[in-house]
Amino acid sequence: MKVGVLALQGAVEPHAEALRDLGATPAPVRTPAQLAGVDALVVPGGESTTMSKLLDTSGLAGPLSDRLSSGMPAFGTCAGMIVLAREVLDGRADQRSYGAIDIAVRRNAFGRQVDSFEADLDVAGLEDSFHGVFIRAPFVEAVGPHVEVLAAVDGHPVLCRSGPVLVAAFHPELTPDRRVHRLFLEAGA
Ligand code: GLN
Repeated sequence: MKVGVLALQGAVEPHAEALRDLGATPAPVRTPAQLAGVDALVVPGGESTTMSKLLDTSGLAGPLSDRLSSGMPAFGTCAGMIVLAREVLDGRADQRSYGAIDIAVRRNAFGRQVDSFEADLDVAGLEDSFHGVFIRAPFVEAVGPHVEVLAAVDGHPVLCRSGPVLVAAFHPELTPDRRVHRLFLEAGA
């Protein structure tokens, strides 16, 4: 299983390591040709406005949109969750999101109270709690009827799945626990 990690910006290597640990073969994606060669894609954390611009300038925007519409499995963390969402709240006017999962996401949503924090999450389908690292994290404000909410913080969804698309407001690649990456690989990748 060749799993691309979008490598325009942000935390790429920790995702590659997590995927390798689970027996997948990670590959950096910076060009349309590299995207064409992968079976699934991780969109990492970073800065969603910058990532949106780099997707345009790299020529990846169109091909990415096509692959997502045809059901490519995808996993977005933090900024990646924003990039994959249907709607972005508190985004920049020119910021693009790809509608791979029917959620509305608010950028820097916890930021008003606290910039970054860690929390033990109860995740549907996992036996023990998962330690979530949140860094200027978004949360989900609205979910469509086909979206499963797998974890929430103070009632705000932070881990959601819809078919082969998984999104996390936190950074599972920054802890050694691979269970959330495994959920992604099991969901379709
Ligand atoms: N706040 C960032 C954004 O809006 C996301 C932060 C992150 O990915 N750690 O894109």
